[in-house]
Amino acid sequence: MEYSLIQNGTLIDGTGDQPVNNAAILIKNNIIEYVGVEDSINLPKTKIRKIDADGGYMLPGFIDSHLHLMSNGFKFEDTMYTPLSLYFYKAVENMRLTIDAGVTTVRDAGLADYGAKMAVDQGFLLGPRMQISVTPLSITGGHFDFWLKSGFDMKTSYPGHPDSICDGIDGVQRKVREVLRAGADVVKVMVTGGVMSANDQPEFTQFTVDELKIIVREAGYRNIKTMAHAHGVGGIKNAIKAGIHSIEHGTYLDQESIAMMRDNGTYLVPTLLVMKINRELAESGSMPAYGIEDALRIEDIHRRNIKKAYKAGVTIAMGTDSGVIKHGLNLQELSLLCDAGMKPMEAILSGTKVASECLGWQDKVGTIEPGKLADIIITKSNPLKNIESLGNPNNIEVVIKDGKIVKNLHKT
Ligand SMILES: [Zn+2]
Repeated sequence: MEYSLIQNGTLIDGTGDQPVNNAAILIKNNIIEYVGVEDSINLPKTKIRKIDADGGYMLPGFIDSHLHLMSNGFKFEDTMYTPLSLYFYKAVENMRLTIDAGVTTVRDAGLADYGAKMAVDQGFLLGPRMQISVTPLSITGGHFDFWLKSGFDMKTSYPGHPDSICDGIDGVQRKVREVLRAGADVVKVMVTGGVMSANDQPEFTQFTVDELKIIVREAGYRNIKTMAHAHGVGGIKNAIKAGIHSIEHGTYLDQESIAMMRDNGTYLVPTLLVMKINRELAESGSMPAYGIEDALRIEDIHRRNIKKAYKAGVTIAMGTDSGVIKHGLNLQELSLLCDAGMKPMEAILSGTKVASECLGWQDKVGTIEPGKLADIIITKSNPLKNIESLGNPNNIEVVIKDGKIVKNLHKT
């Protein structure tokens, strides 16, 4: 049995409660045992490892509800030039950068496979705890079909990574079963086209409501949630009608779909950061030609519609699409959520408590409360006064995952 005490800091516990000064957190092995004002803690009479927060701020490890740990830019032509092994080695660095950014739990929206998850769970790799979707379901010619008009198929393929393409009631049912067999914790489906795709545009509707209902039903048989990549409003509405758990991106949300989401309790995972960075890349000419037009056009639309959804009271969990953009910038999303109307505390909750609920892991992570896994970060500056500071990994001084210090910029 091992005890640790984090002391000498201000607690922002992720429940939405007011910060607590002079707080301390007692950890037993990997579980939080007690949280409160330091003087009020009854310490066990045994050896305790002390962790000095150094007057900083103690927050829950953040949760990114939408990223791609195995991806570095999503240029589909990369599969022609890049040996498959390099693709895995790069993921090692991607995971470390994610931890350094203060993100200790992620929902991988496509490509991370069961082996990647095992490597972290078994302690071979430093990385966030993850829910994986393995591969997103896509229609023939849809957002995750890498078949080019030349006849070349640019998809990544290896054992453990099933093909994504499925059509029709029988086809999607079988594909869900295949993805679950490959170890998916969540089923991801592309219900519209995308920005960086070869054959479509973000507005295009993909899959029918009937197909989506089968996907939701089949996943539901095993208590598995569904997440839908959705830009165009036709696809968004189909997904909500089918009972999809979370809408990713939500670019072309209109008042009707916003009301549907609120009434159905559908989560929204905006990805403001990727839209911003993609627009900047398109403007500077450093993006493949097939993405430029879409990237320039949709950032503004996305930002405006997310603002409307927030105002209307849709539940918003933080996601970033890291992997499409550079890894490790994840918490820059928080200040963009504030630009969309959130207060800093609300933005923090969208990346902690609300995100844990979106993943269905609210009993394990997302807040600093007794009984939860000890995922805690310590930052120097007050994020309630300066939310942007969280976006710079240099300000994330200590990261604790599962009771273990996995990053420490404090001098020892
Ligand atoms: Zn994505």
